[in-house]
Amino acid sequence: MIVFDLKCPHDHRFEAWFRSSAAYEEQCVSGAVECPYCGSIEISKAPMAPNVAAKGNTKPEPRRDTPKSVMHSTGDARLAEMAGEVQAIMERMRAHVEENCDYVGNRFADEARKIHYGETEERGIYGETTSEETRALMEEGIDVLPLPIARRTNA
Ligand SMILES: [Zn+2]
Repeated sequence: MIVFDLKCPHDHRFEAWFRSSAAYEEQCVSGAVECPYCGSIEISKAPMAPNVAAKGNTKPEPRRDTPKSVMHSTGDARLAEMAGEVQAIMERMRAHVEENCDYVGNRFADEARKIHYGETEERGIYGETTSEETRALMEEGIDVLPLPIARRTNA
């Protein structure tokens, strides 16, 4: 296995593991490698950070779904407070969306298009779609906003 530092045209950097250098070339050319942040498949190698190559080989392969930013800190009270505020804002945002928008599940992209092109009642909707569809919708000039909200599992 070999790890490459890759980047997309938007300068998002990420690491990916490949069986070999040839496998990287092949997957890149066939569009199988996509930026985990924006879904772009125009991927090229980023210059290696000097200390990256020294990593062990115990790192698991990146998962196919979108990585979220995470951090770990200890004892930073202000940070913990802000995290609480962010959580509260996200809760309010979710409540507002759930109250004012129709949940359309995985029909989101279809519904958003119908609304945009006036084929159905104009209203707020929310649901799930892929990053690829989200990008396509944005390119069509449709207002979509990724929500930092997990559907309640107990809903
Ligand atoms: Zn990107």
